[in-house]
Amino acid sequence: MAETTWHILGAGSLGSLWATRLARAGQPATLILRDEARLSRYRACGALELVEPDGTSRWALPAETAAADTPIQRLVVACKAYDAEAAVASIAHRLAPGAALLLLQNGIGSQQAIAERWPQAHCIFVSSTEGAYLRGDYQVVHAGRGHNWLGTPASEAEPAWCTALSASAIPATWTGDILDRVWRKLALNCAINPLTVLHDCRNGLLRNHEGEVNALCAELADLLAATGHPAAAIGLRDDVWRVIEATANNYSSMHQDVARRRRTEIAFLLGQACRQADTHDLPVQRLRALHDRLRTHLRALGLPDD
Ligand code: NAP
Repeated sequence: MAETTWHILGAGSLGSLWATRLARAGQPATLILRDEARLSRYRACGALELVEPDGTSRWALPAETAAADTPIQRLVVACKAYDAEAAVASIAHRLAPGAALLLLQNGIGSQQAIAERWPQAHCIFVSSTEGAYLRGDYQVVHAGRGHNWLGTPASEAEPAWCTALSASAIPATWTGDILDRVWRKLALNCAINPLTVLHDCRNGLLRNHEGEVNALCAELADLLAATGHPAAAIGLRDDVWRVIEATANNYSSMHQDVARRRRTEIAFLLGQACRQADTHDLPVQRLRALHDRLRTHLRALGLPDD
């Protein structure tokens, strides 16, 4: 029987990192690009380039737009959180019954919106700590080793195809507590990324703002507990400082987005934290003040504040 094709929706940093490794392992993989203009540019490049510490390789994956008519059984949704739902809508007519959708988005909200809108699909949340960026058109740099945690909010059993990920050198583990992991990552992001934008600094310089970071960690731990994820709150402050030290010389992803004048995923991170706090009647004054400051800062730069 022919192997199921992995359709990769969005050939940005993470989508290209997944697609090239699947192709290298001999898995059938097809890119779905935004429009004909993107498709022509890809065809002019001829392939995706994967840049790793030990060398560069090129992978001539097939590509198409949403307008193609082949059914989709397995889809890796690799768009930013604010684009994900519209991108899935563009291919929804092609989804086979029970199709698996791997949702790679950071933060919280986009995955739930997709799972609610397409209940017939098998939506899998993925929390990734891998690092990748684009060096040029269709050239992805694998910048940071990490891991991918997969699971469903209903803690379903691991699908058989999951082994194809590890076999493709995509480090992946199926977990029964994916929501705890997604929330923990959101909390780490809220404690670190907005401050690096407002203080315009690398992660390590948050050492100069220790009190501010610790106060945010305390509110975030309360929020995790209130939203039903107390396990995600355990050791949060220590973990935040561990990440700050381990990535001291790096600029956070939100800082990089702002520096490149790109829209941030604030609505799915700090915005989501504040909305959830409202729902649970939690004061979280520091988080709200941080959200307001960040939105004001983004507007002043002419960037979207959501
Ligand atoms: P990215 O480099 O901006 O890539 C997103 C891609 O999605 C772009 O190529 C974009 O195409 C494409 N796209 C948007 N709408 C589309 C549509 N309707 N149809 C087809 N393609 C569409 O973003 P990323 O860094 O890979 O991040 C993706 C998600 O993974 C984010 O939520 C991010 O937070 C998360 N994440 C990223 C990393 C990382 O290291 N990069 C690590 C962990 C988690 P255009 O170029 O046409 O806009």
